[in-house]
Amino acid sequence: MSRVYNFSAGPAVLPEEVLREASEEMLDYRGCGMSVMEMSHRSKMFERILEEAEADFRELLHIPNNYKVLFMQGGASQQFAAIPMNLMKNKVADYIVTGQWAKKAWQEAQKYGRANKIATSEDKMYSYIPDCSDLEIDEQADYVYICENNTIYGTKFKTLPNTKGKPLVADVSSCFLSEPVDIEKYGIMYGGVQKNIGPAGMVISVIREDLISEDVMPETPTMLKFKTHADANSLYNTPNTYCIYMCGKVFQWLKKQGGLEAMKAYNEKKAQVLYDFLDSSKMFQGTVRKEDRSLMNIPFVTGKKELDDKFVKEAEAAGLYNLKGHRTVGGMRASLYNAMPMEGVKELVAFMKNFEEGNL
Ligand code: PMP
Repeated sequence: MSRVYNFSAGPAVLPEEVLREASEEMLDYRGCGMSVMEMSHRSKMFERILEEAEADFRELLHIPNNYKVLFMQGGASQQFAAIPMNLMKNKVADYIVTGQWAKKAWQEAQKYGRANKIATSEDKMYSYIPDCSDLEIDEQADYVYICENNTIYGTKFKTLPNTKGKPLVADVSSCFLSEPVDIEKYGIMYGGVQKNIGPAGMVISVIREDLISEDVMPETPTMLKFKTHADANSLYNTPNTYCIYMCGKVFQWLKKQGGLEAMKAYNEKKAQVLYDFLDSSKMFQGTVRKEDRSLMNIPFVTGKKELDDKFVKEAEAAGLYNLKGHRTVGGMRASLYNAMPMEGVKELVAFMKNFEEGNL
């Protein structure tokens, strides 16, 4: 067996230890004679898996009791509609558009009410985070929306926007559990799990209880109502059982690594290795304003398309996979999620140095 270093932006690398454990439990989960995939979601066995997953997730993020944790299907993209449908009581919301995922969320919200674009970094190809310390927040706004880590462009909010008392809704898909957060600063913090947490097919949403009610847009499908899932503890219908099980294993792995403080320190070290090289390279450059750089997604370019293509091809031959930048940006992108080991980053940088020497 040979595993490569996988720099994919998502679905992405998972901890090897977790994959091994899952493979050992594949045919017979802890003596029950079947795989977790084959188990009823109403069985005691699965209920325990779900309860433990939620408890560990809450522990990792220090989530207070007045927040619900919901495991939902439909991907982060489905939440682009669910959020306005559940929250737009006044039919107004303010969006900060710092990349394609925020833009998609903003466009979706326009179907349900007045979605104001109150700040954007579109003018410079989303290569920075705008100053959000004193924005004009609509008095009627039901919430202020951000995409906290911009997967495609490699920017991250280092300071959350001043929402002037409005609930903050944040898509954290690509920085989920990469560092500690103060959950009480959020009305909703949600993300798809296929980047930093588990396999594709699920969203975890942490929602302040007062934002969950029956008072939603009348046309809201039952499955998109937060209350449906909150009342049923994420078991309204058949959830993505295997994904919940895998996420649970990753939560345990994170606890073993020392929790989110330790993860943050490790992620900073890993990103530093690559950023230091980019800052000293004569061939490769980062594309993001330094103070807004993400620890998770690091785009870089040579400035020449043929050289970028050559780099991606040769890197793959050397066991460094999925380094091609997003189709809309070009160049390269290395995603350094929690499960990417330091050795992977060091190998990437060593490869980049060699490539630079051979191609300058
Ligand atoms: N938000 C962000 C920040 C993302 O990176 C992505 C996926 N790359 C999405 C939303 C969309 O996620 P999904 O495919 O789960 O709908």
